[in-house]
Amino acid sequence: MQTVPLLINGQFVESESSQFIAVTNPANNEAIAQAPVALDAEVEAAIAAAQNAFKTWSKVPTPERARVMMRYQHLLKEHHDELATILASETGKTFDDAKGDVWRGIEVVEQAMNIPALMMGETVENVARNIDTYSYIQPLGVCVGITPFNFPAMIPLWMFPMAIACGNTFVLKPSEQDPLTPMRLAELFIEAGAPEGVLNIVHGGKEQVDILLNHPTVKAVSFVGSVPVGQYIYRTATSNMKRAQCFAGAKNHTVIMPDANKEHVLNNMVGASVGAAGQRCMAISVAVFVGDSKDWIEELAERIGKVKPGIWNDKEAGFGPLISPKAKARVLELIQSGKDEGATCLVDGSDATVEGYEQGNWVGPTVFSNVTADMRIYQEEIFGPVLCCMCVDTLEEALAIVNANQYGNGTSIFTNSGAAARKYQSDVEVGQVGINIPIPVPLPFFSFTGWKNSFYGDLHAYGKQAIRFYSETKTITSRWVENDIPSGPNMTISLR
Ligand code: NAD
Repeated sequence: MQTVPLLINGQFVESESSQFIAVTNPANNEAIAQAPVALDAEVEAAIAAAQNAFKTWSKVPTPERARVMMRYQHLLKEHHDELATILASETGKTFDDAKGDVWRGIEVVEQAMNIPALMMGETVENVARNIDTYSYIQPLGVCVGITPFNFPAMIPLWMFPMAIACGNTFVLKPSEQDPLTPMRLAELFIEAGAPEGVLNIVHGGKEQVDILLNHPTVKAVSFVGSVPVGQYIYRTATSNMKRAQCFAGAKNHTVIMPDANKEHVLNNMVGASVGAAGQRCMAISVAVFVGDSKDWIEELAERIGKVKPGIWNDKEAGFGPLISPKAKARVLELIQSGKDEGATCLVDGSDATVEGYEQGNWVGPTVFSNVTADMRIYQEEIFGPVLCCMCVDTLEEALAIVNANQYGNGTSIFTNSGAAARKYQSDVEVGQVGINIPIPVPLPFFSFTGWKNSFYGDLHAYGKQAIRFYSETKTITSRWVENDIPSGPNMTISLR
């Protein structure tokens, strides 16, 4: 059985721990590796390595740091299929979807390649007589990332390339459920020329995260995962005077206007709702049909019902298994609650299985209609292949539903009316909006801007906001004159 190593100070080392967490293939729940629960001393060593590396890495010229990212981007592309295969084997994602997971991370590395331009400060000459003011963007120090299971390539790549390109060093604590992908990402990063100690990786759960959150050396914490853990991490990190950005759960609505292109709506809704078995923070889990568009619900349910779960290399499979038996049990329990609370189950994936993989965490596509806002299937993030359909008469009513929801990660509207789209984009209280695009994940020159209970903090992932998050601004006011020096003391706060 392969034991997942730690990465400390440029070395892939076996943990001395006697505690391990099984990494399984979710299609049959057989163990494929084991991840150690790192010892306290090992987490401390990772932080110390990052602290030490910061002294030199922060002084490496910015264009040289960019060149490491250029080589890294090249290697990631060269190893795209290999990374997707590792990723698919530990998450169960279909091969194409696994490639997408890696690709959306590569795009962030491409953004990190632009770091010299992104780190430009500001300057004004002659703010007072012979006085100039200019600012520099400087790195913070040791930054930390804690990542979820559902995007084991993309989400680590949201974090460490941007932080490290800024001149910081990093300790990553990836999900214990699929650590093999982040380890391969790290090997390629070192091959790209990242010096020792710049990126470190430890494994484990709460105890290891707590060491990172409480360590005085750590300056900034990036987290992606569930709401309770996100709230805990945000509170702990900020009460320890660290900056924090915590991306959390979601319940994303699509509003379907009756003037939308029906074919376009139905085609897009199938993948957006049950793709990746609904285990995407931007999955569409609620469809709000406005007016006569409710007549499309049955046809949508029929199309979603035709999507088959399957193993990662089955080309006919629309999506894979859920990540764990625990996740499956949770989703099944929520489906049952929908039936008990009176929603109409148009497609029921509760009994789904895949031949030859009966031990896997399968849940088939599931569609509910007549869902109301008080039901648990509406209130809770299901994180499974389940779509809830609701019906209203007007766009205003649809907006009221979306805005009353506790989450604000993503939303979309399908319409052929510019006026309706504009009203929606303006009035909706959600941070990422798609217009005739179901899942509006921004490319990395923008930022990933969830709102409400989907995000705690102010500066978001990637784009310009990530540069601000992973840096300090130093503002310098200087006077260089040969003569014309003001005489006498200046007893005021004004520059002269
Ligand atoms: P999770 O919260 O269970 O775990 C996330 C990370 O936190 C893991 O590394 C885990 O080891 C660690 N962790 C778990 N419990 C902890 C604790 N008590 N204290 C400290 N650390 C702890 O999340 P998950 O199940 O891996 O991921 C799914 C969740 O992530 C969903 O809620 C999904 O919506 C969310 N997510 C959000 C976004 C976003 O951008 N908003 C993106 C992807 C996933």
